[in-house]
Amino acid sequence: MRRQGIWLLITLAYALAVTSCQAGASPGDLGGVGVPSATVQPTVGSQADLDGIGNTLVTPTPTAGPASALRVVKGTPTALATLVPAAAPVPGPKNSVSPMFSSPPFTGDHPLMNFFDHDLPFQWYDNNGFQLTSWGGKTSGVDGHSGHDWLMPVGTPLYAVADGEVVRAGVAEPFRCEPLDRIVTDSLGVILMHRGLEGRSVFTYYGHMSRVDVNVGGKLTSGDRIGLSGDTGCAIESPHLHFSVWVRWGKVPQTYVDPYGWEGEGPDPWLVDKRGGEKSHWLWDSGVAPRVYREVELSQKEISALKVPLVVRYIRWMGWRDEQDPNNEVVRIEVAPDSGVRGPVSLFGYTLSNGHGAEFVFPRGAQVSPDSPVWVYTGSGRSTDTVYFWDKDGGVWDDMTGCATLKDPEGDVAHQLGYVGAGSKTTAPCAAPAKGDAP
Ligand SMILES: [Zn+2]
Repeated sequence: MRRQGIWLLITLAYALAVTSCQAGASPGDLGGVGVPSATVQPTVGSQADLDGIGNTLVTPTPTAGPASALRVVKGTPTALATLVPAAAPVPGPKNSVSPMFSSPPFTGDHPLMNFFDHDLPFQWYDNNGFQLTSWGGKTSGVDGHSGHDWLMPVGTPLYAVADGEVVRAGVAEPFRCEPLDRIVTDSLGVILMHRGLEGRSVFTYYGHMSRVDVNVGGKLTSGDRIGLSGDTGCAIESPHLHFSVWVRWGKVPQTYVDPYGWEGEGPDPWLVDKRGGEKSHWLWDSGVAPRVYREVELSQKEISALKVPLVVRYIRWMGWRDEQDPNNEVVRIEVAPDSGVRGPVSLFGYTLSNGHGAEFVFPRGAQVSPDSPVWVYTGSGRSTDTVYFWDKDGGVWDDMTGCATLKDPEGDVAHQLGYVGAGSKTTAPCAAPAKGDAP
């Protein structure tokens, strides 16, 4: 009975959603200012558009010993190592490639906050607890997210990904942002219409912008600047670009698709969904697809508050298909700037572990100094004084939630850096088990 009741609610929610989709994208509405209600105006349930709840840094209470316990070694600091970018996305053999996006929506690399959820891209009824990526991996984030969110500073230039026409530009109609618990009136966005996917139009939506430089009806060439990124609307606390793509066809005017296509095991859950699914194609020209990776980094202020000498300052815990490119994952360990430690500190015998049985042991001679952090990549490579490789065949950091633990040679925790996905601010992965979990 209870299940049937829930299903009825889901069906009702979907019916309302489809209704609002159709209303939002009717031809007469396309010239207006605003964005489709289906994009930023979920109307049913508590799974409101949580766009913008960023990756939450979890900085557990440190249990480190005093700085005097460190073995300070003599030596000359080596040059700062460079971060090797996560792997560039490329379509696998199972993907359907229809390259029609000849420009990236932004230049440079920015960490990804939310993926397109192939299971399923409806925020108001999907609550299976994960986002399913284009390669079939489960990740954390806003459940049912219908596009990609890249974290980036306010004011980052945004570009048309293909030739097209501006069909919406400017401030969206006011809508309720549940996480902010108020009506939002400042949501700036742009919708472009492109032609080319199997004879159909494809729409791209840029959300949370801070400035719009185009007008409705304007004709754009791929790569034209359309404005600047921002944190307007329901972006909550982290400035980011919400970029979503949909095709118009049949009776559902707006059907979201993943511009990275689908290449997971078996059929795409979104394609086979009877309630309005659609096939996703890889839409990027060669080398154009923005990187997808996740990272967190402690700020100087956060480090100071920890009052520990050594910190796991940074972790990039996923990228494009970690099982193929385990060096997508990397951890950076630093001497805390205001710890009072001046010279290099020996890391010999220290361990870095993921809490699931994988442990990296720093070799003899390993050291970290105030001006020379140490990087630990998950895959293979040639180690240097400042860069180490775990030699794993796949990823070791959990895509859902995890914790990097640095322990000293005695096995005591020197520092931990935990991470959770977007939208999950209460989970503290490094914390001790909750009461009741103890045997
Ligand atoms: Zn978003």
